[in-house]
Amino acid sequence: MPNFEFDAIVCGAGPAGTTTALFLGKAGKRVLLLDKEKFPRDKICADNKTWKCLDIVKELGLWNEFEKLPKKEIHGVLIGSPSGHTIYTPLLEKDIQEKDTWFNVRREAFDNFLMEACKKEKNITIREQCIVLKPLFKEKQMMGVQFRNEQGKTEEQFGKVIVGADGSQSVIANSVGLSSKIKGRYAVNARAYFENVQGPMEVVLKQRESTTSRHPALGMCELYYLKGICPGYFWIFPVDQNWCNVGVGMRLEDIERKNIQLENKLKEVIESKKFKERFKNAKQVTEVKQWGLSVLGKQRKCSGSGFVLVGDAGTFAMTFSGEGVGPSMRTGKIAAQTIVRALDRNDFSEQSLNEYDQQLWKILEPEIRGFQWLEFLILHEKIFDWVVKKARTNKDLIKISSRMQKDYRVAQEFIKPKTILKLLFG
Ligand SMILES: Cc1cc2nc3c(=O)[nH]c(=O)nc-3n(C[C@H](O)[C@H](O)[C@H](O)COP(=O)(O)OP(=O)(O)OC[C@H]3O[C@@H](n4cnc5c(N)ncnc54)[C@H](O)[C@@H]3O)c2cc1C
Repeated sequence: MPNFEFDAIVCGAGPAGTTTALFLGKAGKRVLLLDKEKFPRDKICADNKTWKCLDIVKELGLWNEFEKLPKKEIHGVLIGSPSGHTIYTPLLEKDIQEKDTWFNVRREAFDNFLMEACKKEKNITIREQCIVLKPLFKEKQMMGVQFRNEQGKTEEQFGKVIVGADGSQSVIANSVGLSSKIKGRYAVNARAYFENVQGPMEVVLKQRESTTSRHPALGMCELYYLKGICPGYFWIFPVDQNWCNVGVGMRLEDIERKNIQLENKLKEVIESKKFKERFKNAKQVTEVKQWGLSVLGKQRKCSGSGFVLVGDAGTFAMTFSGEGVGPSMRTGKIAAQTIVRALDRNDFSEQSLNEYDQQLWKILEPEIRGFQWLEFLILHEKIFDWVVKKARTNKDLIKISSRMQKDYRVAQEFIKPKTILKLLFG
């Protein structure tokens, strides 16, 4: 047996890895947190933080620090269907009163804020600019990692549990045959920041009477499932400083089949009749960057002998929206709880760590069941158009969408006979 200096080695310091490390550190466990980058660093994302994320920020006792970050309040989401119908789903006033709004915070700032919290935790040893090369095994149990260290030298460290938190190209997941690049669920995305994008809010204003939001025209996330892009989408998410995070994401197979250059696609959409007015006075302030991501579909194995996978390494971003920050942090929290119990038992076998899969799946299964309906919609453009056209003026259906923003299990209500009748005849 190697001499374990650490209870856990967390590979990757994105939201999933830092959350795992923070919960473990606070439980008094010794953690080594490795990341290939030096923080602060950018991460290609649309920057939205829902209550899934914000609840965990509060639970970690970091809300006061979070409040200091540059950010934009978000009060609702606008969805555009392929033929151009739009529906605005406001966050419910009572939810805002209980939890505050959602926020868009640039990942460079948000991930650094979590990293700074880790730096203050005495049980966490942080090593930046360390690239994990491969996991190390003893009798089929993962119990260490080999990495290229800050000086460019190959180094090995050992831990009782290895946490794969190294994102959608995870070395840890790939090494055990659990690649997070899943056919049909893997999208490539291109993103840039723009200054001074104009925002027509007429759709929102028209719906104003049927919503309960205080400021329906304020800070919303816009997702357009455009023809030729759907089930991917074009997005405009406002962030701080009058900047917007703008991007487009498409399934890899659609990009390959249509031989699309994603950066050109982004330009094409911005210059299209539908959006050109909004970008007339806008200035692109960063280069276009690309990143891949798989979304969660069905239950997958995310633990094994000596290891667990959290965040994008385990493919936990939501289908339909691609939201992954909150879901990643949630997996980090559950992984940490499992690891604490495994340490108490001194048992890091596949069976012991399978508790993580079980705990997680209990929560995810009802959410996924609801989201299957939304996934069905984006895969069937004509039905999607029809549903958005019907639902956009139906108070009850908008209310279900709004309730879903707090609890994803509510999505199951869309497929109840009562709701379908409302859609057909409401
Ligand atoms: C274009 C786009 C838009 C998105 N928009 C949103 C959004 O608005 N809201 C939302 O909630 N989610 C969004 N997501 C999803 C979200 O970005 C991810 O789900 C989230 O970042 C997952 O966090 P993570 O910690 O698992 O992985 P990551 O954030 O990818 O972090 C992984 C970390 O591991 C490090 N790493 C990787 N490989 C190694 C290695 N070999 N050795 C050491 N370190 C390594 C990386 O440097 C990184 O710091 C979006 C994703 C994309 C691609």
